[in-house]
Amino acid sequence: TPKFRHIDPQRLAAVRERERAAYAAANPTSHALSQRAAKHLMFGVPLHWMSDWSTPFPLHLAHAQGARLTDADGHRYVDFCLGDTGAMFGHSPPAIARAIAAQGAQGITTMLPGEDGVWVAEELARRFGLPVWQFALSASDANRFAIRWARALTGRTQVLIFNGCYHGTVDDVFVDLVDGQPRTRDSLLGQVVDITRTTRSVEFNDLAALEAALADGQVACLLAEPAMTNIGMVLPEPGFWEAAQALCRRYGTLLLMDETHTISTGPGGYTRAHGLQPDLLVLGKPVAGGVPCAVYGFSADAAARAEAAKRNAPPGHSGIGTTLTANLLTMAAMRANLAEVMTEAAYAHMFTLATRLADGLRAMIARHGLGWCVTQVGARTEFQFTPTPPRNGSEADRILNPALEQNIHLYLLNRGLVITPFHNMMLVCPDTTADDVDRLVAGMEAFVVDTIA
Ligand code: PMP
Repeated sequence: TPKFRHIDPQRLAAVRERERAAYAAANPTSHALSQRAAKHLMFGVPLHWMSDWSTPFPLHLAHAQGARLTDADGHRYVDFCLGDTGAMFGHSPPAIARAIAAQGAQGITTMLPGEDGVWVAEELARRFGLPVWQFALSASDANRFAIRWARALTGRTQVLIFNGCYHGTVDDVFVDLVDGQPRTRDSLLGQVVDITRTTRSVEFNDLAALEAALADGQVACLLAEPAMTNIGMVLPEPGFWEAAQALCRRYGTLLLMDETHTISTGPGGYTRAHGLQPDLLVLGKPVAGGVPCAVYGFSADAAARAEAAKRNAPPGHSGIGTTLTANLLTMAAMRANLAEVMTEAAYAHMFTLATRLADGLRAMIARHGLGWCVTQVGARTEFQFTPTPPRNGSEADRILNPALEQNIHLYLLNRGLVITPFHNMMLVCPDTTADDVDRLVAGMEAFVVDTIA
């Protein structure tokens, strides 16, 4: 087996300084905007995460179309980040742009349903095999609401997650295993409740630990991504999910699958592609083409119990729902997306290119003896700094290398290539071309030659 190739920190730092200077010189308009933004935007950006990219100051965009971005200084980029999945099917697909323009002139938000919502629910039921649906404004919200329903309909207190997971700003999941003990993540701001009282955490791919966590019958739901995609990438071992699903059934725990990233697997997500039958399913980000929206589905049994729980509860606010949810604009965008954009044909193109990317990166890694690995889940590809793919969140966490990542990201960005910040995730969309993919592989190789080889 190959070994992870040593990287000289001084050489890396020298490349970093050179690339930071090159970025600063090439982006005077972004720089001016950043200085203006510093006055009235906290951290100089509308959302503080936007200052966490690898760049010395935020890159400001002019526009985005298909697989391409144009920045405020007029540079063009091939976008493999695609809004961290929000634009997984390309920026502003024409069908969605048309639907938004048409609906935008005919009512945006009303607190009343229309025909698009009925059509969308029928289509979601057909795709995902779950018969009953509700909506939210973000995947974070959908996960929060699904957990609330799960607790309400089971009457149980505990939520179970896999160590190293991410499901959005859902406080329940910010629990890490530290030396085998659950601990509330200390980076959480303003959190004053001891989350470990109601959240359990076990390692992914560990069926014995899973059963031990479920066995007392106190767990309302297991919230999980079918494959972990937020701590690098961790795939389920063969048979893991079939066994995990059976354990959930045995102990009366609802299986809540978060397909927000693994929708890269196919039009019905990972669960449909692999014949799994979750009780609840969440999908956010790309479901309405980037218009803020998420959907969550219920099995017939879970839906009947959820409706009973609501009927039997005292009247008043359920703690579920927000005013702009499922409004007319969102539903029109989602319908256009499901009908015309998120199609089998789109996926077929994306699979071909993602495989080309994964193969290209693997060959490059082998040529230079880097000892990195590449993992692919449909249209989603990730490279990780280890020869053997991690089996769980702890292993994946140990191989994260933010300094190296940031160097790679900035190097690529200076060469017109954008990949997802915070880890090494690359998405292709229906507008990505084979030439774009080859450019990304070449850009990675140039970095390796400059920095490591
Ligand atoms: N679930 C998963 C699997 C995610 O990766 C994310 C975001 N990265 C979310 C939920 C939350 O999505 P949002 O930030 O749009 O609420």
